[in-house]
Amino acid sequence: MQIPFNNSFAALPDAFYTKLAPTSVSAPKLLAFNEDLAKLLGIAYDDSKELAEAFSGNKIPQGADPLAQLYSGHQFGNYNQQLGDGRAILLGEAIDFNGIRRDIQLKGSGRTPYSRGGDGRAWLGPVLREYVVSEAMHALGIPTTRALAAVSTGEDILREQGMLPGAVLTRTARSHLRVGSFQVFAHRGQTDDLQTLTDYAIARHYPDANGPMDLLRAVCTAQADLIAKWMSVGFIHGVMNTDNCAIGGETIDYGPCAFMDNFHSGRVFSSIDQQARYAYGNQPDIAVWNMAQLATALIQLFPDKDAAIEEATEIIHAMPAQLEAAWLTRFAAKIGITHPTAPDAELIQSLLNLMQKDGSDFTNTFRALGTASASDQFTERDAFAAWATEHAARVKNIPDAADIMLKNNPAVIPRNHRIEQMIEAAVAGDMAPFERLIQAYATPYTHTDADLATPPTSAEIVPATFCGT
Ligand code: AMP
Ligand code: MG
Ligand code: MG
Repeated sequence: MQIPFNNSFAALPDAFYTKLAPTSVSAPKLLAFNEDLAKLLGIAYDDSKELAEAFSGNKIPQGADPLAQLYSGHQFGNYNQQLGDGRAILLGEAIDFNGIRRDIQLKGSGRTPYSRGGDGRAWLGPVLREYVVSEAMHALGIPTTRALAAVSTGEDILREQGMLPGAVLTRTARSHLRVGSFQVFAHRGQTDDLQTLTDYAIARHYPDANGPMDLLRAVCTAQADLIAKWMSVGFIHGVMNTDNCAIGGETIDYGPCAFMDNFHSGRVFSSIDQQARYAYGNQPDIAVWNMAQLATALIQLFPDKDAAIEEATEIIHAMPAQLEAAWLTRFAAKIGITHPTAPDAELIQSLLNLMQKDGSDFTNTFRALGTASASDQFTERDAFAAWATEHAARVKNIPDAADIMLKNNPAVIPRNHRIEQMIEAAVAGDMAPFERLIQAYATPYTHTDADLATPPTSAEIVPATFCGT
């Protein structure tokens, strides 16, 4: 097999990582492979056995320079001074046919010096969940890491639920630099390393940025755009810790994430998020909080701390308005408006209020707007009819409003119960549901399988997701 590696992170000083190989597994079997993504990366291979060997970590492809990255981070608001890749190995980077440098990383590939108490492994369920949901996010037009391969290891691992089949996910990312990658060096007072990392991040992600404050500005903009896109499809990340907040602006770490069925701004799925810190409606505030942690780290680079604090504070204080503007752009498009003004925010909010009160399905309500079936989503039909009249008046002079709505309101999203059903089947050896979901979610705006657009029955509802990944 050939991967056109072109590694840059491995050339940084060794303060940033530990070089080590993945731990091999007993019986790797290829479960899924993303041929389109492989083509984009220029990967050449002979057969699935070769892919299973490489993407299980059993055979290191030529040109790889495997390493585990160091980072720290705030987990649920508490600083943990050392996290790092506890079960992931960066094989290296390849520049894709669009000229974008992408990390190729194995996840679930064995213990590393950063594993703490963990076994370094992943079980099949979360591996396939990340595979399906990250590819769905990509198709929805939301910046995300992507899934290249999933391999079962032939080894069972112990989780809360009992013994479960082990698996390795191969994912690609614009990079795996996180807020926590900066925090660790700032916290330790390793200013030279922090500077090196900052220069590297600017060159890799924001080559137009002029210094750390400009980097902060660029990351704030990318995060505001990302969170608005999450909100617009009812996505709840579930674990927006600073180590899961990517500098390049991609969605990363699909642990306990989920899409909502019926709308509620306080919705939480993650079983470990007891305080609802990462509830749907809190995500914009948390993004600001995370950017404040990045700002705190970057300030260490400035000899004049007072001036740096003042400038960084200004950038962070500007972020809520940035988030609001990004949110308005996204949600206005969902109701057929391309150039929203301030009153449109109220129109959108009043719809969301009705939806919350009536428990309307988030995806299906927006998808049905402008059609007769929209009111089926409401119990208080008069209230919705009044809203619909107001909306019709607003979009009256936008000739392509209906088209704008169809392009911004997906027909299908990865509903939690479908994901769970898919995992259950895969554990029993049936990959057909996985294949079905991959195919359906590849065209979320045009897919017409009514079955996948249907909310769960009361027996099918999966109210919680688990972090026992
Ligand atoms: P997460 O909550 O998935 O972002 O993970 C937080 C930290 O725990 C990261 O440093 C992970 O690498 C580490 N981690 C999670 N699961 C495991 C595991 N099974 N073995 C070793 N480290 C793990
Ligand atoms: Mg993580
Ligand atoms: Mg995780």
